Amino acid sequence: MRARRRARRSRRYSTGVADCVFCRIAAKEIPASIVYEDSDVVAFKDLNPRAPLHVLVIPRRHVSGLAQLDDVSLAGKLALAAARVAKDAGHGESFRLVVNNGAGAGQSVFHVHFHVLGGRTFSWPPG
Ligand code: AMP
Ligand code: ZN
Repeated sequence: MRARRRARRSRRYSTGVADCVFCRIAAKEIPASIVYEDSDVVAFKDLNPRAPLHVLVIPRRHVSGLAQLDDVSLAGKLALAAARVAKDAGHGESFRLVVNNGAGAGQSVFHVHFHVLGGRTFSWPPG
């Protein structure tokens, strides 16, 4: 990418990372099926759903993983948004919340996200 274009793009991401796919979704740079958003949090359908309800809840600002999330208020907002998404989808009494932290735990996108899964039964322990 040419330097001027790179500089222009990075200016747009005052709280994000230009090559992070979830920052780009939060900035509406790439399309996603958004089901909830507010000033701090965005929730959108997972591209490769593992359950009838599979939504990802992310903070607007870039934080690479749960282990790097040091804002108690933002952590609470993510959790409340996750419960709200499940409730709005009709699964408020029975849903699963998953956070994969680190490649060894299955994290593939390094912008913290809560998976909200519902609409089927889930086994325990998870695989
Ligand atoms: P994880 O493996 O826990 O990091 O989860 C990343 C999730 O992001 C996976 O379930 C992917 O299907 C999902 N994903 C990746 N890119 C997109 C995208 N552009 N829109 C929606 N979901 C995505
Ligand atoms: Zn990001």
